[in-house]
Amino acid sequence: MELQSKLSSALSSAVPSVKLLINGEFIESRSDQWRNVINPATQQVLARVPFATRQEMQAAVDSAKAAFITWRKTPISTRARIFLKYQQLIRENMTELASILTAEQGKTLPDAEGDIFRGLEVVEHAANIGTLQMGELASNVANGVDTYTINQALGVCAGITPFNFPAMIPLWTFPMAIACGNTFILKPSEQDPMVTMRLAELALEAGIPPGVLNVVHGGEEIVNTICDHPDIRAVSFVGSTRVGTHIYRRATMAGKRAQCMMGAKNHAIILPDANRSHTINNLVGAAFGAAGQRCMALSVVILVGSSQDWLPEIIAKTRTLSVNAGVEANTDIGPVISCAAKERVEELIAQGVKDGAQLVLDGRKPKVPDYPKGNFIGPSIFTHVTPGMSIYDEEIFGPVLCIMFADTLADAITIINANPHGNGTALFTQSGAAARQFEEDVDVGQIGINVPIPVPVPLFSFTGSRASKLGDLGPYGKQVIQFYTQTKTITARWFDDNVNAATVNTTISL
Ligand code: NAD
Repeated sequence: MELQSKLSSALSSAVPSVKLLINGEFIESRSDQWRNVINPATQQVLARVPFATRQEMQAAVDSAKAAFITWRKTPISTRARIFLKYQQLIRENMTELASILTAEQGKTLPDAEGDIFRGLEVVEHAANIGTLQMGELASNVANGVDTYTINQALGVCAGITPFNFPAMIPLWTFPMAIACGNTFILKPSEQDPMVTMRLAELALEAGIPPGVLNVVHGGEEIVNTICDHPDIRAVSFVGSTRVGTHIYRRATMAGKRAQCMMGAKNHAIILPDANRSHTINNLVGAAFGAAGQRCMALSVVILVGSSQDWLPEIIAKTRTLSVNAGVEANTDIGPVISCAAKERVEELIAQGVKDGAQLVLDGRKPKVPDYPKGNFIGPSIFTHVTPGMSIYDEEIFGPVLCIMFADTLADAITIINANPHGNGTALFTQSGAAARQFEEDVDVGQIGINVPIPVPVPLFSFTGSRASKLGDLGPYGKQVIQFYTQTKTITARWFDDNVNAATVNTTISL
């Protein structure tokens, strides 16, 4: 016992701790519950992250509540300028941010820069808050009566984010909420919180005042406290369907607004007339990039008609992908986030074989000589996959592609619409008529036409359908302004005692 406590104190002094951000200060948690942040390529412990205590959570809410009193009335131009400065700081620190992200999350450095860049675009969007938050006005809705709307900040809002995009997804949440005049509590993934904390530091450097942005860490307990807390008005969640469904129910039962962007099983359809090399390159990148740990990964492909003949070429192209640590040049597939995630993906592959699917490319146990401890899984491909197999029914969230066959586009759309998830999908074709049929009939939020990962730019909102989304308004874009504001509609008539009725009724000749 004594040895254990000595070991744990030696570890805690050698390894940096991830701080909480409360009321503008980065503070050491007093929690007695911590977990390690681990480099998935090496198993090196990079930091320790606390599970914040109830008192720390309450302090974050108190500081956000107090800051709201002045922040809600801070001029739009002041708020907008902070985000102009923030986007500049993120650009200037891109290389450092990407290297933190790759170390703790595993994805390649170019993918890490992409992760940060897609978040940066939302920060740029937040700098447009002036026009985005404007209300509407109709004059003379009755004699001398005008009606107009104002979109006011709600109060304290919260965000709960997943491990797979630890820069982009936190940046989907707090910049737009804060630009609208709200104050915020962010709960990043406990698996890779370090790049998020660096982004929080830069946000303060950009001028976000104390208490306007707070960050707490933890898991189920702190998330439940966020859902239940009477002083939090809205919760934005991105993560798995299981957790998102729980959060949506719990938060809305407590009277909050909630938006939950959740799990996926994204299908691509390939028609025989598609551009062959473009399609295969795109498919392989979208299926295996970021080790399949993207909510928009194309994890199922339906080969329609004679495009089934493309199978050998798809396998051959996949074999060219290189599996290695994310910091190494020319890596295509980095490690998955944890040993547990690796084990789960390998178990699902084994189950797929038992269920009768054909494992035409087995990526288990790839050789990565310089990183023998990494959580690596090479790209794997199954054919003859059918609904009811766990590799099809579950989101694998690893570098595994399931291939199905269909005779017609209509049959392929039926397969997609029968799957519970509706996050993203893509069609590869050169036929406009087929594309039009697809976009009209498929019940999925994000649709790509010859675009494999159609994540919308921030002029639009991320969407999602069926099991992939709860709540009607999506993150960023115009929709999120509605989510993070309360619309007030004012109907006004003004009487001027100094102007007599005769004057008011006189028609002014122009
Ligand atoms: P996750 O649901 O396990 O975790 C997400 C967040 O919820 C984390 O902050 C975590 O601490 C918290 N959490 C975990 N378990 C909890 C519990 N029992 N109760 C309350 N809170 C809990 O998701 P993940 O593994 O970090 O991320 C991968 C998932 O996120 C995948 O399903 C992926 O499809 C999804 N995702 C969806 C989108 C989208 O926009 N639809 C984007 C990215 C990721």
